[in-house]
Amino acid sequence: MVLFNMKTAICTFCAQTGMLCKDCQTKVNNGEVSPSDIEISKIAAEFEKAHPHSSKVNIIKTIEQPTFIILLVSPGDTRFLTGGSLDFDKQLERKLNKSVKIMEKGKNKRKIIDEIFAPAVITGINTLFVPTRNAKPGQPSIEEEMVVVISADDEENLPSTLKELKKLVKLLTGEEIRTEFR
Ligand SMILES: [Zn+2]
Repeated sequence: MVLFNMKTAICTFCAQTGMLCKDCQTKVNNGEVSPSDIEISKIAAEFEKAHPHSSKVNIIKTIEQPTFIILLVSPGDTRFLTGGSLDFDKQLERKLNKSVKIMEKGKNKRKIIDEIFAPAVITGINTLFVPTRNAKPGQPSIEEEMVVVISADDEENLPSTLKELKKLVKLLTGEEIRTEFR
């Protein structure tokens, strides 16, 4: 049996055999692991046989939306999965029938937001100061809001609906953003 080390949602045994052990079945039952996660783990097991360097990869979590899936991996992991002859994302897209983005976990919010909106191009991010809704005495009465500016020509290049994209930004950066097309 080929060693498989890439950290995925299910264990090595299950990813390689396609069966589910008791532990993994429990994860499926409480919704911790989705059917897509299982597919991703199986493809990862195959991918690793052909590309041993990918054994270093740690898939932290997957975020599934109606039209696409984001794989959040550890910083520096992307290069073991995509680029050149590496086609882990393309393999997943074919199998899952959704577009797949591989993103590295990081603190650079701008980079994360850029990647979420790609292929649409963000031309600027501005900070807007707005009065705090329902501010209580002793709390700041002004708060900052991030306004993401996208070129008006790019509206049709958004990878998903604005509502979904905003939700993703919130999930990955904690920011509640506004968007503007100009
Ligand atoms: Zn298992």
